[in-house]
Amino acid sequence: MGYFVIDRSAGLALIAAVAMLILLLVVLWVRLKFEIRAKNLTEEENKEIKERYQELEETCNSALTSLDELSIKYEELNKNKENMKKLAYSDYLTELPNRTAFTEMLDSIMLTLRSGETVGIMDIDIDNFKNINDTLGHSYGDELLIDVTHRLKQAMDENDYLARIGGDEFIILTQNLDDTVTYEEKIKKIKKVFSYPFVLSTKEYFVTVSIGVAFAPKDGKNSQALIKNVDAAMYVAKANGKNTHAYFDYSFNQKLTEKIEIQSELRKAIEREEFVLFYQAQMNLETKKVVGFEALIRWKHPERGMIAPDEFIYLAEETGLIIPIGKWVLRTACYQLKEWTKHYPDITMAVNLSARQFKDRDIVKTVYDIIEETGIEPAHLELEITESVALDDIDYTIKTIEELRKLGVNFSLDDFGTGYSSMSYLKRLPVSNLKIDKSFLDTVMEDESDQKIIQTIISLARNLDLFVIAEGVESFDQEQFLKAANCDKAQGYFYSEPVPQDRAEMILKNKIS
Ligand code: C2E
Ligand code: CA
Ligand code: CA
Repeated sequence: MGYFVIDRSAGLALIAAVAMLILLLVVLWVRLKFEIRAKNLTEEENKEIKERYQELEETCNSALTSLDELSIKYEELNKNKENMKKLAYSDYLTELPNRTAFTEMLDSIMLTLRSGETVGIMDIDIDNFKNINDTLGHSYGDELLIDVTHRLKQAMDENDYLARIGGDEFIILTQNLDDTVTYEEKIKKIKKVFSYPFVLSTKEYFVTVSIGVAFAPKDGKNSQALIKNVDAAMYVAKANGKNTHAYFDYSFNQKLTEKIEIQSELRKAIEREEFVLFYQAQMNLETKKVVGFEALIRWKHPERGMIAPDEFIYLAEETGLIIPIGKWVLRTACYQLKEWTKHYPDITMAVNLSARQFKDRDIVKTVYDIIEETGIEPAHLELEITESVALDDIDYTIKTIEELRKLGVNFSLDDFGTGYSSMSYLKRLPVSNLKIDKSFLDTVMEDESDQKIIQTIISLARNLDLFVIAEGVESFDQEQFLKAANCDKAQGYFYSEPVPQDRAEMILKNKIS
């Protein structure tokens, strides 16, 4: 690698020096020949001159070879330099410009930006990319990234510039934007290419993206500020539930700082015992008795007060902290279940499993260990996974649920009706309960089509031998409707909000008998 140090001018100087040397040798040789002819020399002198002549010829030849070698090396060096430049500026996998190339490009655009000119920057990040990498392996992850690149190219206009700036993060840069309204069309176009599935390892996967948007010069005067701000917008899109987009707003920076703060505090929260479980009663609609509870986590933050799970579960999910937090939830809920079943032997406990927890390779062992440790009756434990998590990789879901069912645990499909709700999938899922999402109940008393949906879900569940739990019941009317529709259980503020352990015990005492 030593010759990389020679720069272009030094290389040229070296070649020139060798060429001069050859010229000098040729001149010497011609002069010598001339001398031989000019003088009448003795045999001895003649021999000596011949030898000198030969020596000179050899030196001349070896100098010529060196010159050839040097030229080859020089060419190699130039080629290497070009390759290194290419490597430094492009992404090996997708062959797109990389972060360095994009940053330099944006810098030069910003330097020559005319007044009134707007540049649009879109930061596109694949949702849950880690899951694909973890479950299918990196080669499929790579394949997906290449497919995504092709699809993004399809959605781009002629003057757009596409770069890959991180693992699963892409940028589209658009110059000379007329107005920011038409930009919304562009975003729609990008989202549309993700509406059909990707085929990986002969299976179909739906992939969604979170998109952050920033405009220059409004949202930043240089590449550094713009990249930081478009990234903040992308994070907000993620926090808003993914599969969505967000335009940068200066208040985001503060939110981002807060997010980083919360993430670091979340790490310490387990040791500091800042989490608590609340329990929400589940009622049997026919007998109107409490038949079980759903355990719902809360974070008792020393300064911020009680924090709801929606504000921190996704952060725990992102950082992987959900694994230890989820274990804590499961263990605590199981100890509580063990305690309550001493007096109320038929009570059940529902525990939520997040996507990452369910996809964790150790999930079966974790559940097994906790059942052993707490001594609960596994049939009284109901693990909840959302419909979207279940359908993300149906074969893995079926295999994992079956393994856990062998331990005696039951499964519920949470938030049913919010995802793809494919009936053919539902038939294959070894779950015991369907939880109808609260969103249907919200409008059920006004909207006839919601009534029909609930009635259909219930009769479908009956055919599949599943129990149905309605979530978010807030009124007597809703309860009456559910009873008439033959729904099994209900959960909601109409009966009780999620409450701390002592209050849950009071509910048990009052309502169970
Ligand atoms: P989820 O599993 O769908 O839980 C039901 C949520 O609906 C709870 O919110 C509950 O308080 C709320 N809810 C119940 N009945 C009513 C009602 O009548 N009206 C209204 N407006 N809301 C009602 P919560 O406790 O804030 O939990 C939100 C979400 O956070 C949960 O949704 C679940 O996805 C997640 N979560 C909570 N605890 C855990 C946990 O321990 N682990 C995991 N992975 N996720 C959790
Ligand atoms: Ca739930
Ligand atoms: Ca739910």
